Amino acid sequence: MLQRLSQVSGRIGRWLRYALRPPDVCFIHHPDYARAAAGLMDPARADKILGFLTDHGLIRRHDVSRPLPASLENVLRVHTPAYLESLSDPTVVGEILGLELGPRESQEALDLVRLMVGGTIQATRLALRTGKVAVHLGGGFHHATSDEGMGFCILNDLAIAIERLRARGFQEPVLVVDLDLHDGNGTRAVFAQDPTVHTFSVHNAPWDDVGAVASTSIVLGSGVTDDRLLDTLEERLPPVVRSHRPGLVVYVAGVDGAGGDALGDWKLTAGGIVERDRFVVNTVRHAGPSVPLIVVLGGGYGASAWRHSARFFGWLVSGRVVEPPDDAEIILRRFRQISQRWNLETAAANRDSDWGLTAEDLLGLVTRVDTRFLGQFSRHAVELQLEQLGLLDRIRARGFRNLDLSIDASKGLGQTLRIHGDPGRELLMELRASRSRSIMPGLEVIEIEWLLLQDPRATFSDRRPQLPGQEHPGLGIMRDVAAWLMVVCERLRLDGIAFVPSQYYMAAVGYRHLKCVEPEAQARLDALRDSLAGGDLAEANRALNQGRLVDEASGGLVSWEPVPMVLPVSARLRDRVTSPEYQAAVSQARAKLAYRLPPDLSVT
Ligand SMILES: [Zn+2]
Repeated sequence: MLQRLSQVSGRIGRWLRYALRPPDVCFIHHPDYARAAAGLMDPARADKILGFLTDHGLIRRHDVSRPLPASLENVLRVHTPAYLESLSDPTVVGEILGLELGPRESQEALDLVRLMVGGTIQATRLALRTGKVAVHLGGGFHHATSDEGMGFCILNDLAIAIERLRARGFQEPVLVVDLDLHDGNGTRAVFAQDPTVHTFSVHNAPWDDVGAVASTSIVLGSGVTDDRLLDTLEERLPPVVRSHRPGLVVYVAGVDGAGGDALGDWKLTAGGIVERDRFVVNTVRHAGPSVPLIVVLGGGYGASAWRHSARFFGWLVSGRVVEPPDDAEIILRRFRQISQRWNLETAAANRDSDWGLTAEDLLGLVTRVDTRFLGQFSRHAVELQLEQLGLLDRIRARGFRNLDLSIDASKGLGQTLRIHGDPGRELLMELRASRSRSIMPGLEVIEIEWLLLQDPRATFSDRRPQLPGQEHPGLGIMRDVAAWLMVVCERLRLDGIAFVPSQYYMAAVGYRHLKCVEPEAQARLDALRDSLAGGDLAEANRALNQGRLVDEASGGLVSWEPVPMVLPVSARLRDRVTSPEYQAAVSQARAKLAYRLPPDLSVT
């Protein structure tokens, strides 16, 4: 009751804050943005940013507008007909995006980029009409020139939006501030002869040596820190704003300069990136009372890149920095909302309707096997859930078009859910799970006996090394699958998810969220993590499997002992693995453990 009350008062507080101070920022987004082909960029990043902003009551639905695809008339203001014609060839589009695309995926990629160009156009329209800052949750394709696409950029949305304004009579000077990690070479090339559009880009390395009549191009090399970037900006940006006197500023707020970015080589911190963004916005605001400003997302690679943009937009809307939740939490929140629409009565109804009695049944020759997943969901219901949560789209984005989902009850405990792709019916996902009351007394959990997520078309690399038990790289949807099972637990009132990691790395990956059922096992895992810290996970796992870790007390070798772990969902289970008794037992066992890697046998 108390919790419910605080939820309600929290909601009223957020509503009041919003009502008293509606943001002078508007957003442009389209749900189809999540259908982007899976590369290094997280296709759900715009959805996650919006989820965060709406969850915190910072924006409302009506602050977000949907774009229309850009007309070819507008695209042709920048790109040559010959280049646009060359895009009918899927290999041309595939090369730009760094993916192998068939005709259908290529067409979808073109449709999506046309939509995103429309989004940047919409942003300029809204910024000029309303005087609000217009944030487009996409776009920033700064590498595309008039006759060539490159570096994930097919059409240059920035240039097209600016040329469209020119065609409509907008004559004010325009300033493009491009702080994506990479060189804004395409935009600079398009406006090379145009003194009215100043292209300002700070980047790690140049992409061309084309000069331009109104341009600032600053190369900082690799390893750039907050101070280095901020000092550069403070010195170089304000003079450009003063001399160019823009009537419109386009800010490419790429976050691939963040330390830990999957593609970048800079070391910007979360605080440094917000500082950078505030500096740009404040510099523009000081330039004149109401210089229209649009912001596009630009680059940012890896599952957590969205958080940098979310932090910036949270500040832009509210004037304070609100810390976004971590990636696993935001996925869970989104799934929880969607799962409210599931009608479990329907899923459970007619449980036996598709079991016509056969002669074998009547003679007692065949035992009936329940092919409902977790004894609850029909194949149809599972497919519907995964579709609504966007999981199937995430798999399709990897080029698997005709997904085939089946449920099989012939092996082991519980049911096996399989998803095959085409062609050749490659196995992509295999999940064998059942409900269990035996893992923790008094509690009921989903026990995962086996989970395989693999992309047979992907190859291992330094970034994605092969781990024991892996035949192919993963599908990149582990967090989504975990969040799906968590909302299933919530709806079925189950306490959590249990599994027995067969390798150390599986326990280490989920360390923050998983707990060993037995405190002594948790103490062993903690000791392993402490002694293997520093190296990467594949190396740590190898060191352990090769018997290179030594128990200091006994002098014996340490090996991985598979034990049950749980991901708590209910308060009952969470209380059990966070209770003072549990923690005391972990500390007591941990104090007796010391493992070490002999220096001469350190991680290879
Ligand atoms: Zn970039």
